[in-house]
Amino acid sequence: MTGLEVLDHWIAGAPDAGDPQQPGRTGPVYDPALGVVSKEVRYGTAGDVGRAVAAAKEAFASWGTTSITKRQQVLFGFRQLLNERKDELAAILTSEHGKVLSDAAGEVARGLEVVEFACAMPHLTKGAFSPNVSTDVDVYSVKEPLGVVGIISPFNFPAMVPMWFFPLAIATGNAVVLKPSEKDPSVANWMAALLKEAGLPDGVFNVVHGDKEAVDALLTHPDVASISFVGSTPIAKYVYETATSHGKRVQALGGAKNHMLVLPDADLDLVADSAVNAGFGSAGERCMAISVVLAVEPIADELIEKIRDRMGKLVTGDGRKGCDMGPLITREHRDKVAGYIDVATADGAAVVVDGREADYDGPDEGFWLGPTLIDKVPTSSSVYRDEIFGPVLSVVRVASYADGVELINASPYGNGTAIFTNDGGAARRFQREAEVGMIGINVPIPVPVAYHSFGGYKASIFGDAKAYGPQGVEFFTREKAVTSRWLDPSHGGINLGFPQHT
Ligand code: NAD
Repeated sequence: MTGLEVLDHWIAGAPDAGDPQQPGRTGPVYDPALGVVSKEVRYGTAGDVGRAVAAAKEAFASWGTTSITKRQQVLFGFRQLLNERKDELAAILTSEHGKVLSDAAGEVARGLEVVEFACAMPHLTKGAFSPNVSTDVDVYSVKEPLGVVGIISPFNFPAMVPMWFFPLAIATGNAVVLKPSEKDPSVANWMAALLKEAGLPDGVFNVVHGDKEAVDALLTHPDVASISFVGSTPIAKYVYETATSHGKRVQALGGAKNHMLVLPDADLDLVADSAVNAGFGSAGERCMAISVVLAVEPIADELIEKIRDRMGKLVTGDGRKGCDMGPLITREHRDKVAGYIDVATADGAAVVVDGREADYDGPDEGFWLGPTLIDKVPTSSSVYRDEIFGPVLSVVRVASYADGVELINASPYGNGTAIFTNDGGAARRFQREAEVGMIGINVPIPVPVAYHSFGGYKASIFGDAKAYGPQGVEFFTREKAVTSRWLDPSHGGINLGFPQHT
């Protein structure tokens, strides 16, 4: 035993230390800026998942038929509490993820947007009605909850990504089992306690921590109706294939390699600001981060200078100290990302800024890597092809718009992309020709607002439904069509004693 706090699961409205007869494993949770283990977290077993699913199933029996107004009131309450205490959530997030406090606050704000969207669920789930499709016959459709739904989330947005799903799931009458990332798990319990405070009945929202063992138990449990997953592409594919083969509805969002195409007529100051924000915000650990700038010549030299200037002003350090960029999530991940800088040199690219040489405001044990800029990256290099998921921005010089679009469309990923130009015609053509799910036009990170849905194309998503927005509502409901006949005595039906009209 380490003597550190051990984070429990959250089942049936209370912390849950697992089955004492079958104690599970635990794993370390780091403070990445300090490079120390701050607590341990339980790794759930199939038994823990089974108890969480059973609690959810029991809660669903009444939550699924609770009036939609009551469900809406719980969400309004949650929204208010979250708004009042968002700084507390942001601070927990920074201490385990490492992103700077302003990024953490932004993450919470984007999650809150989805909560607000879900507050409109009575309007969003109104069915359709067709009167008199035949004599005395009406047809109408109603949207019903699925039952127990599973959510599996990644480390990089431990508050926002669960909030892409659970507000909609709960508002539509489902009960939830969340398996958050084991790397920054505490915000999940914090949100569970807040939902309870907002009036959510016990068992409607449960958290089981852990790794593959807990995930597999959720993917194969017969009482789990659906899985909403966000993470890397290989795991998204595995989750999709496993859960669908067990009869579940699945939305599985995967990895990304997002390109920014810069035409020669673009405002290069705006481009440089955008590239720095989108490349190094949250230390590049965003699925919508820009990792490749496609510079249509002859602008590359000028653009690189502008980006380099701005990078020189970025302060890397402890996110609690008002820096611009925090550490990476683990030491192993930092080493892996830093290794790509050597690969770049070996593959003939030009390292313009080497993040390994950057100063940082924090102890040496922190998982630091400063912002890195690499020019002339060959498209055959793994620096270009792999999702690096760190503060490494590549520049690829291209001769034309068409060459840029060809590269974007050749990528196996299709999450986000952006074009920077002052030519409206080129922008319109780009939004049509780019085989990517989210397009920015002079906007580097085109994350849709909560009332549009979020999701990419190709290897960036498995399944048919994107996250939140209208597709999220569809995902968490199934439609029942009712064909109903009520005989009207005036039509010569059963004589109920009413006067017959002639
Ligand atoms: P990850 O795939 O390693 O983990 C995601 C979840 O899957 C975690 O809960 C983890 O515990 C679980 N998991 C990990 N390995 C598993 C295995 N072998 N079997 C079963 N479950 C397993 O991803 P991550 O490193 O936490 O997050 C970063 C990745 O997520 C990046 O690839 C990023 O692009 C992606 N991401 C995508 C989106 C999107 O919307 N497309 C959003 C955020 C993050």
